[in-house]
Amino acid sequence: MPAKTSLIGLKFGRLNVLETAPSVRFPCGTVRTRSLCVCDCGAKLVAMNYALKSGHTKSCGCLQREKAAASNFKHGYARQAGKGKTYFTWRNMIERCNPNGHRMDSKHYSGRGITVCARWRSFENFLADMGEAPKGHTLGRKDNNGNYEPGNCEWQTQAEQTRNTRRNHIVTVDGITGCLTDVAHHFGFTCVQICNRLRRGWDMQKAFHTPLLSHRPARSKASISAAASSSQCPGPLLLRGEPPPGPGG
Ligand SMILES: [Zn+2]
Repeated sequence: MPAKTSLIGLKFGRLNVLETAPSVRFPCGTVRTRSLCVCDCGAKLVAMNYALKSGHTKSCGCLQREKAAASNFKHGYARQAGKGKTYFTWRNMIERCNPNGHRMDSKHYSGRGITVCARWRSFENFLADMGEAPKGHTLGRKDNNGNYEPGNCEWQTQAEQTRNTRRNHIVTVDGITGCLTDVAHHFGFTCVQICNRLRRGWDMQKAFHTPLLSHRPARSKASISAAASSSQCPGPLLLRGEPPPGPGG
């Protein structure tokens, strides 16, 4: 055999070349050199040398079978009734924290340096550590500035999530410090009302000390729904029914 065609001793993917195998001649006249290989899994096979060198053949087939099994696991899992939520939660987490992603909310995650630990890049590991999402729960971080990793994550109810988010909106008005919602309640406003004022460029003093208009002109349905859709508060709207806490709350 010419030395240039011998691949003996080389490794391609999972395949270790043991010896040169008889070449094969195709009906078109093309002759292909071949090698006897042993796969990391122990299986032996004869592979075309050009396919080994081009990277087309990397294993006895075990590599494709493993990839297919992993893919089936993910997608089969996503389809199972009631269990898809855990998978989509995991996928959302990965996408939010992808610094090269295109999600609008990435600025609150990857944009703040929030990452997913190496172990949880695998859905199987995430599932093993966190278990399935209980009904009515979402994935939350105990430390909002911490990463997605075991120890900092738990399945939280909406109220727990909201409380966690509230820690991000701490304000001080007239010596009273608390989350925006609590301080707004203290001054007789809702979080949405204050948020809207601040968004319009009002300063804190004006936003908290200007009484609401008691007699508003009647508004059309369209303008009310437009206002409602634009008045989404970054804070906890769900706590609007909560009793207002005392000063310092
Ligand atoms: Zn193999």
